[in-house]
Amino acid sequence: MKPRTIPAFLTGVVFTFGIMILLGAGGTVKSPTGTAPDRYAYYPGTEELAKDEIRLIACGTGLPAARRDQAATCFLAEVGNGDKFLFDVGTGSMANVAALMIPYDFLDKVFLTHLHTDHWGDLATLWAGGWTAGRTKPLRVWGPNGATPDMGTAYAVEHFLKAYNWDGKTRDFVLSAEPGKISVKEFDYKAVNAVVYQENDVTIRSVPAIHAGDGPVSFILEYAGLKVVIGGDTFPNKWYIEHAANADLAIHETFLTPADLVRLYGQSPAQAIGVGTQIHTSPQAFGKVMSTIKPRHAVGYHFFNEQATHDDILRGVLQTYTGPLSLAVDNMVWNITKEKITERMIVSPDQAWAVNGPNRPPKPPAPGSVPDPISDFIKAGRWKPAEKAQASMVNSFKKEHGLD
Ligand SMILES: [Zn+2]
Ligand SMILES: [Zn+2]
Repeated sequence: MKPRTIPAFLTGVVFTFGIMILLGAGGTVKSPTGTAPDRYAYYPGTEELAKDEIRLIACGTGLPAARRDQAATCFLAEVGNGDKFLFDVGTGSMANVAALMIPYDFLDKVFLTHLHTDHWGDLATLWAGGWTAGRTKPLRVWGPNGATPDMGTAYAVEHFLKAYNWDGKTRDFVLSAEPGKISVKEFDYKAVNAVVYQENDVTIRSVPAIHAGDGPVSFILEYAGLKVVIGGDTFPNKWYIEHAANADLAIHETFLTPADLVRLYGQSPAQAIGVGTQIHTSPQAFGKVMSTIKPRHAVGYHFFNEQATHDDILRGVLQTYTGPLSLAVDNMVWNITKEKITERMIVSPDQAWAVNGPNRPPKPPAPGSVPDPISDFIKAGRWKPAEKAQASMVNSFKKEHGLD
């Protein structure tokens, strides 16, 4: 679990823009039975967040094509007042979110930068998985409108629920329908630095992005005098430059180099130069963005991060930016306070179970109140020897739990 993304000259304690950045391990082990005080690792659920602190976790940093060690875009922001915000929930990312063992009731707020599957494909997993694993209330989704109604977030979520109609109707019969609902707050994708969320001392604003079509945005989260910018897919744009300036943590995509898009992603040179430098942000352009807005810490993502691609991208970035930098992989975590920003890797179980929150699950529907989705024809096909084989186990379980 070594952080692969810090250039050698940035490891340890460095001073940049007059601010101390702490990266990696350190301290002193004071006795043979003692513990190491500072570690590279963050173990989820073991550290209380300070009131004036933000914990930002990369739960997906990859691409639309699947890769086991990198899901598609998803960032989780946890702020010191207890609120948590998912920014995008790209395909595959919920496995990383689930490994944090955060009760699903605390994961009810989702902000979508745009509607490519690598940014919202795992909404299905959060929606249905969370419903079965303890969420007691509807999901809340914020996202941009589009140039026409059918290109906006409200349309997308409405038709998402239609596509998953069978899933929803069959769960409604055995679970409360309430956690299976999704409320959508759609906002104007053209609005510049407009407030899209303001509750409990947290403000989230959006700025337009330039990517593939009208609609995409980036988000700016402000809390406790700290500013974290979550950049969605974009070619570098004037709105990000103006409103992400002086961020504490600035996340912005940096795409694979055109050469690597040809070599590794099988793209034609014509496609690679278009995708890598017009629809997305090249490493050199990413560096120029960061050396212009001067964040306390810069984060680049949205590429399959392996030694070769990492080094190619880093070389490009260093042509235009030499400040504090993470080239993100999944399960990288940043703790952000006024005093310091740390980057660590998460150590979490592959086999995490969901953990209940303080709220009791809502009651399942009363018998007869929801149409039975299984017909008598199908019920009549139940194989009797199976009932017989499990009868003793079923009876003792019912007795133990006082069921009829
Ligand atoms: Zn996209
Ligand atoms: Zn994307």
